[in-house]
Parts: sequence; C-alpha cells; structure tokens
Amino acid sequence: MFACVGFAAASATAPLARTTLQRRDPGPTDVRIDILYCGVCHSDLHTARDEWGGTVYPCIPGHEIVGRVVEAGAEVRGFKPGDIVGVGCLVDSCRACSACAEGLEQYCENGFVGTYNSPDTHTGGVTYGGYTKAIVVDQAFVLKIRATDNLAAVAPLLCAGITTYSPLRHWRVGRGSKVGVVGLGGLGHMGLKLAHAMGAEVTLFTTSANKADDARRLGAAHVVVTRDPDAMTRASGGFDFILDTVAADHDVNPLLNLLKRDGTMVQVGAPEKPLAVAPFSLIFKRRNFAGSLIGGLPETQEMLDFCAEHGITADIELIRMEQINDAYARMLKSDVKYRFVIDMASL
Ligand code: NAP
Ligand code: ZN
Ligand code: ZN
Repeated sequence: MFACVGFAAASATAPLARTTLQRRDPGPTDVRIDILYCGVCHSDLHTARDEWGGTVYPCIPGHEIVGRVVEAGAEVRGFKPGDIVGVGCLVDSCRACSACAEGLEQYCENGFVGTYNSPDTHTGGVTYGGYTKAIVVDQAFVLKIRATDNLAAVAPLLCAGITTYSPLRHWRVGRGSKVGVVGLGGLGHMGLKLAHAMGAEVTLFTTSANKADDARRLGAAHVVVTRDPDAMTRASGGFDFILDTVAADHDVNPLLNLLKRDGTMVQVGAPEKPLAVAPFSLIFKRRNFAGSLIGGLPETQEMLDFCAEHGITADIELIRMEQINDAYARMLKSDVKYRFVIDMASL
C-alpha cells in the first residue's frame, strides 16, 4: 500500500476536504497512474451527498480521469511508464458474464466495480475515485489517450462523452436524424457536439435562455426554452430521438410529446426522485422511453478515437482542488460552462 492525498466528503452534509488515503501497490496486471486532471460530474455531487442512497463515507468521487502511467505490472501489455491514459466510470467487472463478453461491462450481470463508492475487492473497503493524486487500475479498464495537448478538456469525455455517445450510437443517430438534447450542462454539451458530428439536426431544450448562443456554437441548429410554453408549442413534433440529461426533477411529458411515431427518448440524467410519465405520452404514436448507462470499455475507446478524429473535446473551466465545493454550488445553479475539471497539480 502507498499513501496518497485526495479530497473526500466525510458525510452527506460535509464539504469536501483534504484527506490521505491508501492505494494498493500495483499487481502484475495493474497500472499505477499519476492523475493530471479529473472532471467534475453531477454524479459526483449526487454520490457525495448520498442523493441516490448507499454512499459509504469517506467518499472520494471523480470518474473522468486523465493521467500519466508511472508504473506497469509485469503482465501489462500496451501501457508503459510515460503513457497518457484515461480512466472512466468503471475499474472492474466480472469479465465472465454475457454482458462483459460483449464489452458491455457497465451492464455486468454480477455488478460492475465503479471507480468510486463500489466494494473494492483488493482493499475490502470501497473504491476511491479521481479527486486524488494517483490511482491503481487493472489494465483492462485503462483507456488509451491519443491527444497530446488540451488533456484537461479530454478528461470529461470519460463520462460525459461516453454517456452521450453510447445512446446516440445505439439508437443509430446520424445524417437525417432530428435530435433533441435536454439540459446544457456537462452531458448536454457533449450531446450537442457528438450528435452534430454524427450529422444530426440538433435542438437544445434548456431552462437557461442565456445559453442559446453557446448552444449554437456547440452544434445546436435550434434552441427552445422549456419554460416558455409558446416556444414548446412551436417546437412541435417530429423528433426521432431525444436525450434527457437533466439532473433535477422535471416534467418529461412535454418532451415525450415531441417524439414522432416510434421515436425514443433516452433518460441519462438521474434525478433522485421518480419521474412521472403520463401513459398517453407513450401510447399515442407508440413512443419509447428508455435509459442508458455510461458505456463499456470498447465503446469508450471508440468514442475517444471518434473525438480525436473530429477534434472534439469538452468546453471546460479548470479549477483548483480546493474550489470543488464552490464548483458543486455552481453546478446546482446550472452555472457550468460546461464542465469543471480539477487541475491535480493544485492538490
Ligand atoms: P450538469 O452539468 O449539472 O447539467 C445538468 C443540466 O440540467 C443543467 O446544466 C441544466 O441545463 C439542467 N437542469 C438543471 N436543473 C434543472 C431543472 N430543475 N429543470 C430542468 N433542467 C434542469 O450535470 P451532468 O454532469 O451533465 O449530469 C446530468 C445528469 O446525468 C446527472 O443526474 C448525472 O448524475 C447523470 N449522469 C448519468 C449517467 C448515466 O450513465 N446515465 C452518467 C453521468 C451522469 P439548462 O441550464 O440547459 O437547463
Ligand atoms: Zn459521471
Ligand atoms: Zn460481467
């Protein structure tokens, strides 16, 4: 074991504060990574504050990790000290079930191991995420980063990027698709960029009228303010696909009603309370309401390569580690442009 500094929440109501944690020494198939940057996902906040239940304290969030390999175990192939790599939301899975066999580790039948707040078979405690100086991860859950500059803006691809890429691909969004993205935060802004790069005509649905110019710059052809009933009426139907990234309680029915026959709305935003679906929102036009969880390792690598090819990174605000509590406060006010990323050199 080795000691490592990080930032942890000691309880659901405590601000995050500096701590020291123990990491395992790398085993034969492990890679030890010095973390350079870690993105700040709204899931970090939901978990730190136990909004979904089940948080074990101290809790160290962070699953949008970019770092440098400093040590590779004897059986590691494909990674060597000095390589720039990524770690996303997963650090292990059973690797034997049908989901894992298909590279869909996020749907592992035996439960994936999340980067934070999951049982850690190595230490007997829970996993600790990226708000730390270093992490040790099995090579099978480490991603190759081809970008050489702007690494801080690559970090958010590891969760916000893959969480939006995976459903866009699964529901075959492409040229000719009419797509809606709901909420312009970390996930939403990646949704705009990726759907636009895939050739779709994208509309942003937002509660923040002041984000309209940014939305157009990020790839939206149209912007609709959801709190304006006239604008929602004018948006009318005809959407093939809508991606809802909203982190708070909201009415999904006016959005479902924008789908064309057989259209699909995918919920990736995960507010703590159930969403009320009016049956007729689905019954008319045989609409689908689905969910999607991050993405598996092969698809995450595919997304990173797609982004490298299309010159896509996140729009970020780089912060120092001790600014994390302010960043959470701003995230709750929808005041994120459009992902906070922690500079680990500040820790
Ligand atoms: P974020 O940066 O805070 O963005 C959420 C956006 O939702 C806000 O910027 C805001 O956009 C909109 N919003 C906030 N409150 C709202 C309200 N009361 N009504 C309507 N819209 C509201 O969060 P994020 O990091 O993108 O994460 C979004 C959600 O996805 C979180 O719940 C997170 O836990 C979840 N998530 C899920 C997965 C998955 O695998 N499914 C993966 C990662 C994250 P506007 O200002 O444009 O309205
Ligand atoms: Zn996340
Ligand atoms: Zn499995």
